[in-house]
Amino acid sequence: MKKVSVIGSGTMGRGIAYTCATAGFITVVQDISESSLETCQIYIDKQLNRSVEKGLMSNEEADTARERIQYTTSIEEAVRETDLVIEAVLELMDLKIEIFKQLDRFAPPHAILATNTSTMSPTEIAAQTSRPERCIALHFFNPVPKMKLIEVICGLETSEETIQESFAFGKALGKECVRINEYPGFAVSRMNCLIGNEAMNMVMEGVGSVEDIDKSMKLGLNHPMGPLELADLVGLDTRLRNMEYLHKTLGEKYRPCPILVKYVKAGWLGKKSGRGFYNYN
Ligand code: NAD
Repeated sequence: MKKVSVIGSGTMGRGIAYTCATAGFITVVQDISESSLETCQIYIDKQLNRSVEKGLMSNEEADTARERIQYTTSIEEAVRETDLVIEAVLELMDLKIEIFKQLDRFAPPHAILATNTSTMSPTEIAAQTSRPERCIALHFFNPVPKMKLIEVICGLETSEETIQESFAFGKALGKECVRINEYPGFAVSRMNCLIGNEAMNMVMEGVGSVEDIDKSMKLGLNHPMGPLELADLVGLDTRLRNMEYLHKTLGEKYRPCPILVKYVKAGWLGKKSGRGFYNYN
């Protein structure tokens, strides 16, 4: 595996692209939004400069990684000669299906088509392609360069070869992989969304302040981040879509907290918009 294509250059896509390029893969990033691609390039430059300042890589290594990355708005160009595609667009099933149909059309037959979905069915997405055995979910975590885990989620028809190649890819990125059989929310999102939603319900019920609820989890249970701080980092719009999917597939327990719905309606999307459970301005 030499060349990786990342579809979507938002919060996750840019982190995945940075991680792939610094691990030695030729990386093509595609997005329909020029401004998102620009933000992605600025982010990657900043991360590379920071790594040089910290002594984690030399100037030459940073330049080489920079040269390994291409940016494009054309999906056809992005995947024409790829070995692996990682889709990281919005958490909307119809959009992912539409993109996978195009990936199937334009990517070489040997290429693995992976989705970075947090909750949705890789089987349903794969069924729209002519190569369900080469489709899989590779669930990265935010911020990608720092987080060690990749959940490798096997769809109904994912081949053993695709799973093994995905594990080898994860290892080449310096990550740890876990093998998860498909079920809505997989392992991490299913647990994490519930914890986050409960924390939001507790804020709504007046159990404690945002700060104190986060502090309780950090100091009481040794979580590195509080659940509300984490939801802000994920993006409240993304979290709401995750909750809506889990509510639809797993039932009442996952009904999105009304505060989450209200904040998203107000445009409070967490850290990326400057306001969420915390104020970043
Ligand atoms: P985001 O909103 O930050 O970025 C999405 C990007 O997709 C945007 O840049 C947008 O322009 C682009 N896009 C939209 N339509 C497109 C199209 N047709 N073709 C190409 N690009 C398109 O979203 P995100 O937080 O990076 O989430 C992306 C995926 O990763 C979602 O499935 C999400 O559930 C999953 N995920 C998110 C996190 C997280 O912490 N944010 C963690 C793990 C997984």
